[in-house]
Amino acid sequence: MENKLDLNSPYEMDFSAIVKVQAPATVANMVCGFDILGFAVNEPYDQMQIRFQEKPGITIINDDDYNLPTDPEKNVAGAALLAMMEELPSNIGFELTIKKLIKPGSGVGSSAASSAGAVAAANRLLHHCFSKQDLVRFAMNGEKVASGVKHADNIAPCIYGGVTLIRSIFPLDIVALTAPPLFVTIVHPQIEVKTSDARSILQQKVLLKDAIKQWGNIAGLVAGLLQSDYALIGRSLEDVLIEPVRSILIPGFDQIKAQSKEAGALGGGISGSGPSIFMLSETEATAQKVAGVMHQIYNNLKLDHHTYVTTINHSGVRFVDSFITEDAAL
Ligand code: ADP
Repeated sequence: MENKLDLNSPYEMDFSAIVKVQAPATVANMVCGFDILGFAVNEPYDQMQIRFQEKPGITIINDDDYNLPTDPEKNVAGAALLAMMEELPSNIGFELTIKKLIKPGSGVGSSAASSAGAVAAANRLLHHCFSKQDLVRFAMNGEKVASGVKHADNIAPCIYGGVTLIRSIFPLDIVALTAPPLFVTIVHPQIEVKTSDARSILQQKVLLKDAIKQWGNIAGLVAGLLQSDYALIGRSLEDVLIEPVRSILIPGFDQIKAQSKEAGALGGGISGSGPSIFMLSETEATAQKVAGVMHQIYNNLKLDHHTYVTTINHSGVRFVDSFITEDAAL
C-alpha cells in the first residue's frame, strides 16, 4: 500500500482488502482549553471495519444496540465518508461496519470516533492518498451532523493521537503537542446533558480580568505539557469561564473535583460538554484512587455511573489485524 491513488483515473478497487480500526475516545475542552485543546485516550474505543463494495455509495452496518442511523447522511461516519468521496473517483463505494463501544452522548467523543475512524480506515484502503489534515477536514462534517457545528477538538486528537491544539478551524491549523506520561480517570454518570443545553447557557461576553486568567492558564498548560512540568500542568488546569457555568448541569461535580485533587490528581474538569468528568494524574496508583473517590461520591448520590482509568493515546486511530477486546465499553 505504498503508491498513492491517482485521482484523475478510474480506480481499481481491491475487493478482498479489509481494514479494521480502533477509533479512540477523546476528551475535548481540556479545562481552560475550551474548543481548542483535546486529547485521545487508550480506552474506550470504537471498532470499525471497512471494505470496498461493488456499487458506488456507502452501506453502513451497525454491529451494536445503539440503533444509530444507517442512512449515510444521518450517521456521522457516513457524513465524513461522503465528504471524502467528493474528492474521489465516482466509481468508489464503501461498506462500513461500526461496533460502538463508546456510548453516544457520553461526552468522550463518540461521534468523533465514528467520523475519524471511518475516514482513517478508508484512507488506508486508498493507499493513504489523503493527509491527516484532510482527514480532519472530512471528519468535521460528521461533527456537524452530531452537533450542528463543525468542530475539531475531538476529531484532531482522534486522528493525530496525543494532545492537540486547534489554533484555528477556518483555516484549519492543528498543532500536535508532546505530553509527558499522564493517567486519566474518567467517570460517566448515567445522565443526559444535551450539547445544545450546555452551549446555550454560556455567556457570550467575558470580563477582561477573566480572559487574562484564562489565557495565562492555557499558555501555562501548553508550556507544562511541552516541558513535562507536572506542577505547572496542575496549576494551569483551571477554567474561570466555562466550568463555573456548565458544572451546575453535572451532579456532584464540585465534590468530585475537590476530593480528586485531595487524592493527588493534578486537576481536571468536564469532558466535552459533559456529563463525563475527567481527572489527570501523574501515577496509576493516584488515578485508581481518584476512580475510588468518584465511585464513592456517585454511590452516595445513588447515581449509576462507569469509571475508567486509562492513559493518553499517542497514535490516534489504530489499524488492527483483528478485534481482540470486546469489552472496552464506557
Ligand atoms: P459525544 O460527545 O459522545 O460525541 P455527541 O452528543 O456529540 O456525543 O454525539 C452523539 C450524537 O450523534 C447523537 O445524537 C447520535 O445519535 C448522533 N450520531 C449519529 N451517528 C453517530 C455515530 N456513528 N456515532 C455516534 N453518534 C452518532
